[in-house]
Amino acid sequence: MKIMIIFGSNRVGEPITANVILEKKVPFNILTAKIDKKGGEMLIEAPDDKAEELIQAFKSRGIRVETRKFVEILSHKCTHCGQCYSICPVDAIVYEEDKSITLKQEACVGCLQCIDSCPFEAIVKIS
Ligand code: SF4
Ligand code: SF4
Repeated sequence: MKIMIIFGSNRVGEPITANVILEKKVPFNILTAKIDKKGGEMLIEAPDDKAEELIQAFKSRGIRVETRKFVEILSHKCTHCGQCYSICPVDAIVYEEDKSITLKQEACVGCLQCIDSCPFEAIVKIS
């Protein structure tokens, strides 16, 4: 499961993720991190069966946590032309054997590049 953790300027420089890993003994991947003096957002990928435990560990430290999908393909607009497939940097858009296009939500890192690539406005951002 992908989990976004969000923190303010007062927490920048604090080893938030390392502390949670040490406490819970659950390793996870950091997929993206945007941190500056105003605060930070980090997208982490947690094992599904440990996600709730990690979410609670972040929340107990006063860290905002969001779990979310980033984009969705509108099936009534998609023509399966494949343009979004070639642009996705993490292979989250899949060309199925039957030539249809599907989105693997668990792989998506929310870069949003696919939205502009679609000539039919079939991909929408989920806020
Ligand atoms: S670019 Fe748009 S229409 Fe083409 S396969 Fe992707 S979502 Fe479907
Ligand atoms: S938002 Fe980025 S990572 Fe997610 S499906 Fe679109 S191109 Fe791929």
